[in-house]
Amino acid sequence: MDNQNNKNNPNNNRQGWGIILVTTLLVTFMVMGFYSLMSGAGPEEISYDKFLDMVDDKKVAEVSLSSNRIYITLTDEARRKEAQENGSDSMNSVINQIWGQTGTGGSRDSSPDYYTAYVNDDTLVERLYESGAEFKGEVPDTMGQMFFELFVTLVLPIGLMALVLSYFIRKMSKGGGMMGVGKSNAKMYMEKETGVTFQDVAGEDEAKESLQEVVDFLHNPGRYSGIGAKLPKGALLVGPPGTGKTLLAKAVAGEAKVPFFSLSGSAFVEMYVGVGASRVRDLFKQAQQQAPCIVFIDEIDAIGKTRDTVMGGNDEREQTLNQLLAEMDGFDTNKGLLILAATNRPEILDPALLRPGRFDRRIIVDKPDLKGRIDILKVHAKDVRMDESVDLEAIALATSGAVGSDLANMINEAAINAVKHGRQVVSQKDLFEAVEVVLVGKEKKDRIMSKEERRIVSYHEVGHALVTALQKNTEPVQKITIVPRTMGALGYVMQTPEEEKFLNTKKELEAMIVVALGGRAAEELVFDTVTTGAANDIEQATKIARTMITQYGMSERFGLMGLESIQNKYLDGRAVLNCGDATAGEIDEEVMRMLKSAYAEAKRLLGENREALDKIADFLIEKETITGKEFMKIFREVKGLPEPEEDAQEKVEERIAMKPLEEADQ
Ligand code: ADP
Repeated sequence: MDNQNNKNNPNNNRQGWGIILVTTLLVTFMVMGFYSLMSGAGPEEISYDKFLDMVDDKKVAEVSLSSNRIYITLTDEARRKEAQENGSDSMNSVINQIWGQTGTGGSRDSSPDYYTAYVNDDTLVERLYESGAEFKGEVPDTMGQMFFELFVTLVLPIGLMALVLSYFIRKMSKGGGMMGVGKSNAKMYMEKETGVTFQDVAGEDEAKESLQEVVDFLHNPGRYSGIGAKLPKGALLVGPPGTGKTLLAKAVAGEAKVPFFSLSGSAFVEMYVGVGASRVRDLFKQAQQQAPCIVFIDEIDAIGKTRDTVMGGNDEREQTLNQLLAEMDGFDTNKGLLILAATNRPEILDPALLRPGRFDRRIIVDKPDLKGRIDILKVHAKDVRMDESVDLEAIALATSGAVGSDLANMINEAAINAVKHGRQVVSQKDLFEAVEVVLVGKEKKDRIMSKEERRIVSYHEVGHALVTALQKNTEPVQKITIVPRTMGALGYVMQTPEEEKFLNTKKELEAMIVVALGGRAAEELVFDTVTTGAANDIEQATKIARTMITQYGMSERFGLMGLESIQNKYLDGRAVLNCGDATAGEIDEEVMRMLKSAYAEAKRLLGENREALDKIADFLIEKETITGKEFMKIFREVKGLPEPEEDAQEKVEERIAMKPLEEADQ
């Protein structure tokens, strides 16, 4: 928003600096010029010998001594003589003559004509007495010298200091530091019209429904207040990052056709106590002037963290929060001012913020489900040219867990990829590559693996895939590859569900653990040794086993006891143990037992199917990337299984459309 006054206008600032610089330079030149003129008109240096001669010839009227020089003033007669000898062009004598005429009280000029270096000469005093020259101890500096010294020792340093100081003061006040108290310099953005509508937000139907009401109230506040209804002051949008909270807030403003102010909660909190509070005051003042409007505070947890912390509070944040609460209580809703705030950590918010009359509406903006993802993909695909191979549903199916910003990003990546390959339209292959880039990073073509390493990676990946195919309750394999990726994977198996699942059975989770350990089992079985390549798998398997025990009540040992609770659901979903140390130890034992038995199962399955393992691994080494279909073909051949009419595996692969992938590769 445009709340810059003239003082903060960068152009004005630049001009001011220019003027200061030019003035400083001018003054410097003037002083130096004056000084050089003065020093040009000053005494001339002569040798000591010549000086003694002058003394002896009684030409010297006056002598003055400084620490290292002797200044000599000639008698009037001697001066005249010299002037005649040198001619009237001598600058020195001209000035001396002028000075002589204008000197104090019209008397003779007493400024020295010559100077010579001081020599330790005992006879000098006597000689001077004899010649009748007057004798002075200390010589005063010439005017130019005085000026110059004054400038160098006093004016220049003070001037420079003033410049530096004023620079820092300006900088501080701009950053909202000490000098900025009382003025909101926080980055606040204002859009008169966001141009975003609810149609641009896909898949968040419940959230949109709740907000629709708010839009209506902004449209005609009178209708609500007329009947005596209290209007909502604020709504809190809660959900993981990238799910479209900001987009929704903008859509509310867009739908209601009111201005949209946005700023981040962290912009309030400063080093100096009181700045945040004054910013809040300022924000509300401005917003009320602009009402009806929407104010959107992103990351409200930065100021809204609960106040009664054990470690002692943060004064600045508490003051800011108190001010926010006071302002929210104070403003008049009838004007049509609505505060929307977003957070992904609702559990840490101060309860006072959530009381009626403040952010009393909580709108959940969660990760989209399959339909939501399809809709989001459609919204973003609208402006991108796509060919007929594109099946957004298949992409949505393969991107379980992705949020709106991921999906928007994938579409864009796909478009960029198409352009990179000189194509005019985006194909399913581009989209699929984009999905992989988001999931596992880009292909790392420059990584050269040794032959042996490629063999190990190949067996490892086929181990996963084979264990998947040999078990029930698993998702079909869609692709196996040993092309390394930038996010660290040396190879991977991609599995795609046939349909979106909201629940997992115990059997499915157990099968997942076996699949995760299938890679390591293959390594041990074939090479009789193990590598570091299974670190990720082990972590994943352990996590599943642990959650089964502590959260899902799926272990016999602990039954239905809830042993862990999730801390921040919308971020990393970290879990905290709710049990005693002894139980924690027992949980670890149980996890170990589950992992051991799953590993044994993986080894058994692979051992019994060694021929398939070898054949598929060889094929993968040769091809680097194979489709689920190719994998299943070899698997069936080895096992002597009939080709199915159309199994689930095929269905998925058709939809994911690996065909264009192969065609495009040729
Ligand atoms: P948040 O505020 O929740 O972190 P944003 O609103 O900033 O997320 O979303 C970032 C971008 O992701 C948006 O600009 C939009 O392009 C895309 N996006 C996120 N969610 C959706 C959605 N539900 N529908 C359409 N696009 C979305």
